[in-house]
Order: sequence, then structure tokens, then C-alpha cells
Amino acid sequence: QVAAGHVEETWVLDDRMKRMIMDLQRHWLTDYQQSREKLLVEMTERLHQEFLSDQQKIRTELLTQFKDELDTTRAELEQKYRESLKAELAKVNEKHRKEISACKKKQWCWQCEAEAIYHCCWNTAYCSVECQQGHWSTHRRYCRRKKQGGGGGGGGAGN
Ligand SMILES: [Zn+2]
Ligand SMILES: [Zn+2]
Repeated sequence: QVAAGHVEETWVLDDRMKRMIMDLQRHWLTDYQQSREKLLVEMTERLHQEFLSDQQKIRTELLTQFKDELDTTRAELEQKYRESLKAELAKVNEKHRKEISACKKKQWCWQCEAEAIYHCCWNTAYCSVECQQGHWSTHRRYCRRKKQGGGGGGGGAGN
């Protein structure tokens, strides 16, 4: 029991020694408490800094993510817009083509360019009897109906 004997010896020291040890213990305790406080302050500060940098990191990540999503959405919208524009254009072209086709099938009044309902002869039609009669003075020389010998002349306008 060497260790026990040693402890026994230590506690047999005189009062002066005991006070010195107590002073030392107090000093260490104060030191310990002070360094502990310092450590706590440092740790808190470090945690705060870490928190701030984490926040910054999260914000940056969120911004990057948001920007990526925005880019994707914009690309998708542009693609959709292009597609709908293409479809719209094709529709308009088709409509235009049909209108032109319908227009080509129509005949137009030689005199006033309104839609014609009376056909006289080749390439010559009128919207009304008035227009037909108004044009007759010049048309009579070129009228093919007259030459064909059918109907002939002034008042006669039909299909
Ligand atoms: Zn007319
Ligand atoms: Zn004619």
C-alpha cells in the first residue's frame, strides 16, 4: 500500500503548507474559470461565425438553385412559346392559303371590283346590271359572248 502511505504523508503537512496548497487551488480554480469563460466566449463567437457563413452558404445555394430553376423555366417557356408560335403561324398560313384559294375562285366586278354575281363572258363579270351597262360601251368590242353569238349586247348579263 505505497500509494496510501504517500497520501497519508501529504495530509500530515503543516498549516502553512495547507494554506499554500489552498491558495494554489484557488488560483487554479480562478484560472480555470477564467479560461473556461474565455473558451466559452471564443466558442460562441466561432459558432456565430459558422452560423453566419452557413447562412451565407445556404443563401448562395438557394440563389444558385433559384437561378437554375429560373433558367430552366425560362427555357421551357421559350420552347413552349416557340412551339405555339410555330403552330399559330402554321394555322395563320393555312387560313391565309384557304382565303386566297377561296378568293381565286371568286369573280370580281370589272367595273367597281366588288364581288361579282353576274358573269358576262371570259374573265368578265359584274356586281350589278348598272356596272355591266356602264362597262358595255368599251366591252362590246371585246365581248366573247357577242362573238359566240349567244344572248348578245346591252342589257344581257347572266351566269
Ligand atoms: Zn360593280
Ligand atoms: Zn362579255
